[in-house]
Amino acid sequence: MPRIWIDNQQVDVSEGSTILDAARALGMDVPALCHRTGCSPSTSCMCCVVRVNGSPNLVPSCATVAVEGMRVESETEEVRAGRRGALELLLSDHVGDCMGPCQCICPAGMDIPTMIRQIHAGDLPAAIETVKAHIALPAVLGRICPAPCEKGCRRGQADAPVSIMLLKRRAADADLAGEAPYLPDRLPATGKRVAIVGAGPAGLAAAYYLLQQGHACVLFDQREAPGGMLRYGVGEQELPRDVLDGEIAVIERLGAEFRLGVRVGDDPSVADLRRDFDAVFLAVGRLADGDAERLGVEAVKGKVRVGGGTLATAVEGVFAGGDAVRAQRMTVRAVADGRSAAIAIGRHLAGGPVTGEAEAFNSRIGRLREGEIGRFLAGACGSARIEPEAPGSGLSAAAAVAEAARCLHCDCRKPLDCKLRIYAGRYGARTSRFRDERRDFLQHADHPAVLYEPLKCIQCGLCIQIAARHGEKLGLTFIGRGSDVRVAVPFGEGLAQGLAVAAAECARACPTGALAARDSGTARADAVD
Ligand code: SF4
Ligand code: SF4
Ligand code: SF4
Repeated sequence: MPRIWIDNQQVDVSEGSTILDAARALGMDVPALCHRTGCSPSTSCMCCVVRVNGSPNLVPSCATVAVEGMRVESETEEVRAGRRGALELLLSDHVGDCMGPCQCICPAGMDIPTMIRQIHAGDLPAAIETVKAHIALPAVLGRICPAPCEKGCRRGQADAPVSIMLLKRRAADADLAGEAPYLPDRLPATGKRVAIVGAGPAGLAAAYYLLQQGHACVLFDQREAPGGMLRYGVGEQELPRDVLDGEIAVIERLGAEFRLGVRVGDDPSVADLRRDFDAVFLAVGRLADGDAERLGVEAVKGKVRVGGGTLATAVEGVFAGGDAVRAQRMTVRAVADGRSAAIAIGRHLAGGPVTGEAEAFNSRIGRLREGEIGRFLAGACGSARIEPEAPGSGLSAAAAVAEAARCLHCDCRKPLDCKLRIYAGRYGARTSRFRDERRDFLQHADHPAVLYEPLKCIQCGLCIQIAARHGEKLGLTFIGRGSDVRVAVPFGEGLAQGLAVAAAECARACPTGALAARDSGTARADAVD
């Protein structure tokens, strides 16, 4: 039984084990993209490299057998640079969007393509869960949002953008009209209490996400009813009050406590709130003269000064967001700030460093070339954008399903478990380092269960092995030479012929989104950070 050391940690492994096996036994997370237990190693990705006994070259840990007395380095800057370089090579000819352009442009980062697939499938409960993972007030925003996401919608390059705002409204209205509107789970009570000053969009959203983390929230507002500018600045015609009240009621049912008609500043002061609560979130809307002094925070050009990404003010335990910190007034931005503040405050309450939500690695196709839009349109309904029957009204159930069919599903179907994305983010890999001329987007959609996007393939060969193990008649094979080598079905046949029985397992094993289940794309489970 060989005994080896990895980063000075001793581990005993069975005869024939690899360094990767040993690292995993120690709980180390080595990026091994092309490796799969039970399949032969291909060493095609070279992301799992380590240094052994000070030897001159890095070696792939998945194919190097552990030998008694080995000393392995797995986390030095040099090893990390080797892994980063390997990831950057894989990304050099990668063509795909991790997130749809709509999601990238949405200030709240809502997973729009997943919501649209769920609406198309008639699964409105799943759709509202997806929406509310990022947007606490979707029925409100489904009426008053300027919909920047639609300006970035790729379908707009063909005819007109997908009606994203009204689809979200459809999911939200159906939820509010139901007997039991969606109430997210709450973690067990932490005993921590947060004072939220201002019950407008930012404050309400912060409460929605803080409550899910198990923290108690008390919202203070100088007005007699919650809602802030949504109630006192938007016309009833545009935003019916029963819609606003319905969404506020959900937050109240989640456990929010409101103290209305209370002007924070003098009695209670922010200092009082700091004493009585574990954190304070200032969501007071646009600052009037003297507000910053009254609240005891630093302001520059009429905006509260906060740390980028954390929304933390210079005062320990005091955060600020929404119109109080921004020049651009947009309700969706305020709602997004409420969620970001909830994440940062949650970290503060947990005693850890106060950081914002980590930005995930994002591969982007960027501007489409002439004719490329046709490849995206191939799988979508060709109808024109469906407009509501009357201006200001929503979409009927049938119209929503039909409008959802216009979506091009620009996003990747494995945004959360693609190893290339996960490790590219972790190792700070850049897509541009070795990038050549980008090739045209390519998607094979002839299989009923899986999609294949060859330009996301890292040639690990796992799908080839799995298809062969299942006894597929045609299966998959490598075709071409050198840098042009590709995975394809032999004899030019389609994917449906190549993967008659093993498609689902191949898609599960594929380390990237190259082979992915058509209907994958579940609600993000990151509402509670
Ligand atoms: S395969 Fe991975 S890196 Fe590529 S687009 Fe999909 S999630 Fe992003
Ligand atoms: S077509 Fe669909 S996935 Fe693509 S940008 Fe528009 S809404 Fe998003
Ligand atoms: S398509 Fe096959 S060869 Fe390509 S990355 Fe996925 S599993 Fe590996």
